[in-house]
Amino acid sequence: MNSIYLDHAASTPIHPQVAEEMMKVMTGQFGNASSVHAFGRSAKRTVSSARDMIAKSLGCHPDELVFTGGGTESDNLALFGALSALSGSGKHIITSSIEHHAVLHACEELEKLGYRVTYLPVDSTGRVQIEDVENALTEETVLISIMYANNEVGTVQPITEIGELARNRGIIFHVDAVQALGAIPISCHDLPVDLMSFSAHKINGPQGVGALYIRRGIHLAPRQHGGLQEKKRRAGTENMAGIAGFGQAVQIAAAHLKERRDHDLMLRHTFIRILEQELGKDSFIINGHPSEFLPHILNISFPDTDTETLLMNLDMEGIAAASGSACTSGSLEVSHVLQAMKLPQNVLRSAIRFSFGLGNTTEDMEYTAQKIATILRRLRNRS
Ligand SMILES: *Cc1c(COP(=O)(O)O)cnc(C)c1O
Repeated sequence: MNSIYLDHAASTPIHPQVAEEMMKVMTGQFGNASSVHAFGRSAKRTVSSARDMIAKSLGCHPDELVFTGGGTESDNLALFGALSALSGSGKHIITSSIEHHAVLHACEELEKLGYRVTYLPVDSTGRVQIEDVENALTEETVLISIMYANNEVGTVQPITEIGELARNRGIIFHVDAVQALGAIPISCHDLPVDLMSFSAHKINGPQGVGALYIRRGIHLAPRQHGGLQEKKRRAGTENMAGIAGFGQAVQIAAAHLKERRDHDLMLRHTFIRILEQELGKDSFIINGHPSEFLPHILNISFPDTDTETLLMNLDMEGIAAASGSACTSGSLEVSHVLQAMKLPQNVLRSAIRFSFGLGNTTEDMEYTAQKIATILRRLRNRS
């Protein structure tokens, strides 16, 4: 049977060079980077060289990066860490209604701690409007958190404009750049951003490791207490192999960014073209922004059917796609992102996220589009 993985926004296959680098570290090194003997020094060198490599790729100083246990931890460290270091000043936060749950659920927790949170609306393409950010600002606003690009529909947000608003008012600006990394060139110092979250497993690196960029001068209280690692910002023995793999993954992603973009755009266009041929232009709707999107995320609704039926049928054909929203205890929840975009019910309930990358071919996309057409025809005949 075919096996086609189109869920790269959830997690990606590890790049062979990343696996090789990790294997080298796992079999050749086992010291603790905090130990002073030769084994420790060697571990420390491995961590430092990954940090230097990532800093160079991201256009920041090595000491502005803190390694974490992934994107979720980076988001939490950014919000809770920055706010607790600020304690005493204002209690208002601005975010959007389409953030990843790592930000949304952290904000709900912050509300319990007495913060007031504004969840900005988005337009029907999934974009935050600058005027809405401006209108939400108050004397009390201390932090804005807006994602670089959305993980369900791929819409890229006006980060620079929002960052400038924040900077002019001395408000801390956090950006969840987990999906943008490797798809959009990122240079931290060229952006008006104070904190930026990254994750390795969305860019063909290992799961369970990520980083938070913390601009020099931004104070951050640690979320966990223990050793003095990561300049006292994240206690705990470093995930040395994971960090080495992350370093390798960032380097590969940066070196092949344009290539990857072209490849993903080609896959995307092939997929849309075959769907148009097989189903006709009016049988499906692309959700997201017409020009400001990540090439590797394609969210499509097939209003004739529902998400669950189509996903199940695709799975039976060996094709892995996603609803884009969390699947809780077998019942499919309607995506908070598509809901915020105020899409009609039949569009909301028939949306599928196809996300692609390393290892996918045009044949995969052709095959999947043809299978979708076959499945939809079969379902239609049955009803
Ligand atoms: C995957 C993802 C996260 C969470 O990252 P993990 O490393 O899986 O914890 C956060 N934000 C966005 C936008 C993501 O796509």
